[in-house]
Amino acid sequence: MILIVDDKKENIYSLKTLLESKNFEVDTALSGEEALRKVLKRNYALIILDVQMPGMDGFEVAESLAGYSRTKDIPVIFLSANNTDKQFITKGYDSGGIDYITKPVDPEILLLKVRTFSRLYEQTQSLNEAQLRLQSEIESRKKAQEELKIQVEHLRSIMESLPQIAFSVDDSGKISYVNHNWLNYAPDGETLPIAHPDETDQLAYFLTHCNELNGPIEREIRIKELESGQYRYHLLRIIPIREDNKICNWIGTLTDINDQKLIESKKDEFLSIASHELKTPLTGIKAYVQLLERVIGKQDINISKTYIERAKDEVLKLESLISDLLDISKIENGQMKINKQEIDLEKTITNAIETIRETCCPNITIERQGEVFDKPVVADALRIEQVLVNFLTNAIKYAPESEKVLVKTSVKDKELCIAVQDFGIGIPIEKQKYIFSKFYRVEESSLKFQGLGIGLYICAEIIKQHQGNYGVESKVGEGSTIYFTLPYNQQNYA
Ligand code: ADP
Repeated sequence: MILIVDDKKENIYSLKTLLESKNFEVDTALSGEEALRKVLKRNYALIILDVQMPGMDGFEVAESLAGYSRTKDIPVIFLSANNTDKQFITKGYDSGGIDYITKPVDPEILLLKVRTFSRLYEQTQSLNEAQLRLQSEIESRKKAQEELKIQVEHLRSIMESLPQIAFSVDDSGKISYVNHNWLNYAPDGETLPIAHPDETDQLAYFLTHCNELNGPIEREIRIKELESGQYRYHLLRIIPIREDNKICNWIGTLTDINDQKLIESKKDEFLSIASHELKTPLTGIKAYVQLLERVIGKQDINISKTYIERAKDEVLKLESLISDLLDISKIENGQMKINKQEIDLEKTITNAIETIRETCCPNITIERQGEVFDKPVVADALRIEQVLVNFLTNAIKYAPESEKVLVKTSVKDKELCIAVQDFGIGIPIEKQKYIFSKFYRVEESSLKFQGLGIGLYICAEIIKQHQGNYGVESKVGEGSTIYFTLPYNQQNYA
């Protein structure tokens, strides 16, 4: 749209007719003021401005247009009848015009100029629009990038806070990110953890075959921990991340399941040992009953009594095994009850020693050393006796060649300490800390001596429930001292 501004209607008419004949859209204004009002409301591609007008002259209108950002780029052609002076022409350009035409107007020249200027304006406009679009595109991309950065950082901090090893893999099977746990198994983010030599399904295999796999994978693999040099079982999980239905990368985690695996294998081992241990006394009982059957008619009371006694011993062994097993399940369910009351600890110790003397080999002496506990203590007498019987049974079992076992007692630092010392095979130093753990048996002795690896675990639970401590001092080939303490104060050691 072109705006013609002239105070003379006849001038406007002839110009308008000329331009419209060439298919230009035309609007008109009869004064500078009217022109300004129109320009603020509409967009014009070109303004043809008469210089001499009553009120605002052409120069003033052009200057005002140059002052508004909306109108400053509209090209202005001045039309002048008189002012052909150089200084007027200069003023015209200074006030924002781009051309100065003097009357009489050559229609062809004018049309040429109008066509050029309005095309120029349109091009400038579309350039400006393109620039604006570009700018807003840049802005929105910047925003999207910032949002993406925040999301990536958020995701990273989640990955970093995971207790597992976490990593991501790009579609070419290359590792693109690892969290700090990875570095416990590999020197840097580009190197893979060392796989167990026996392992056929290795991490490297899955990474190189990632893009052949359509869904998530889950496998148990073993990788080498750098610090300990130990191969630990991990659960490897890799899931594909899709964008527009296409897999763009993979997220993986490695969860340490080594301890679970150990417990599982210990449980299996325990079940097989437990069934064997239960079967041994049962076979004994069966054998003695069969022998009794044979001798019953011969009325040999002494032989019958011996068989009955032996069968009773086997029943006792069976009973103690079953009660240990029951204790284990009570501990697992948090149902092991401790019945604390004021007891005579000295009597409990004597009872335990007597029980062992009656049931175990008579050629071992059990010697009592140390302070005699002559004051009442708050504890569960039966459970404390159970602990002592257990310690003493072990002391005799794991010292087959020796002749004596010591039961030593002392009072120190608000604690009563009861220790059982033997002179047997001893326990290697690095294994001592495990002997109170569930199902643990020292490998070196487990083949030679029968046992379930639960006795000391039950003892530890009993002592813990008395708020006491327990421990071991031992030297291979010289023997072991296994001890426990009971706290005493005004309430339980008056
Ligand atoms: P177990 O039924 O195997 O004897 P325990 O829980 O009583 O189970 O003991 C756990 C392990 O600790 C035993 O298997 C044994 O290896 C070791 N142990 C316990 N007491 C002694 C001891 N007095 N001397 C040597 N080793 C011992």
